[in-house]
Amino acid sequence: MTGIMKGKRGLIMGVANNHSIAWGISKALAGQGAELAFTYQGEALGKRVKPLAAELGSDFLLPCDVEDIGSVDAVIASIKERWGKLDFVVHAIGFSDKNELKGLYADTSRENFTRTMVISCFSFTEIARRAAELMEAGGTMLTLTYGGSVRVMPNYNVMGVAKAGLEASVRYLAGDYGPRGIRVNAISAGPIRTLAGAGISDARAMLSWQQKNSPLRRTVTIDDVGSSALYLLSDLSSGVTGEIHYVDAGFNITSMPTLETLTR
Ligand code: NAD
Repeated sequence: MTGIMKGKRGLIMGVANNHSIAWGISKALAGQGAELAFTYQGEALGKRVKPLAAELGSDFLLPCDVEDIGSVDAVIASIKERWGKLDFVVHAIGFSDKNELKGLYADTSRENFTRTMVISCFSFTEIARRAAELMEAGGTMLTLTYGGSVRVMPNYNVMGVAKAGLEASVRYLAGDYGPRGIRVNAISAGPIRTLAGAGISDARAMLSWQQKNSPLRRTVTIDDVGSSALYLLSDLSSGVTGEIHYVDAGFNITSMPTLETLTR
């Protein structure tokens, strides 16, 4: 199977470095012929993203901080000017104050709750609305979530609440845009060592628990997520929308620790 994304142009939001989930997705898409544009948050990250984009044959880089809606508008305007259309968008953006990614969820501050919601949840809706304008011939949208949205994970706290909202947004956006031939899905990835992942207290323990207790007895990689994203962003999943697709080595189906873990 080669070239299934040939002729497709897409926007990738959320590459910070070569450990980013968005980077795994970008490699899978470019490997199948997609043409990519990248956003970066601030000049320091821009310096890291530029050579990565070049590796995949892209010189189309745009600054974007989703807290500044003007910068989102500018991204969409640049894409309209250069490409005139968009086939897909990947939203791999999340943030919360790391001081609140530990201890009790109940202690979340109003300020951080609001900021986390805007960046990690509502930004997907704001981007989707704008991207849809460039998808007259249909398209696909993908965001990234985590199982802490539906089950209590230690320290994930307000991010779990934001991801629950994000997952509901996926369903509502899929309902809104389905009649226009635009599909909207999410991947719920297992824990992966990334910049954002490192913000969660005791992330190492989460990785180790997943590795010992998931059916596949391992954690997932950005390439595992990349190939599932390729499916969801390509015509291979033409009948799929509004889905939360788990790429977590099966961890979400488990109900108790493995017997090996319990008896060790
Ligand atoms: P990452 O740090 O590589 O990527 C997070 C990205 O969010 C960065 O590129 C950062 O610049 C961007 N971002 C944060 N605030 C922003 C803002 N205001 N404006 C624009 N961009 C902003 O980490 P990652 O783990 O690859 O995270 C990507 C997505 O995957 C996030 O939504 C995260 O919650 C989700 N996710 C991560 C894991 C994991 O274990 N790493 C698991 C499931 C889901």
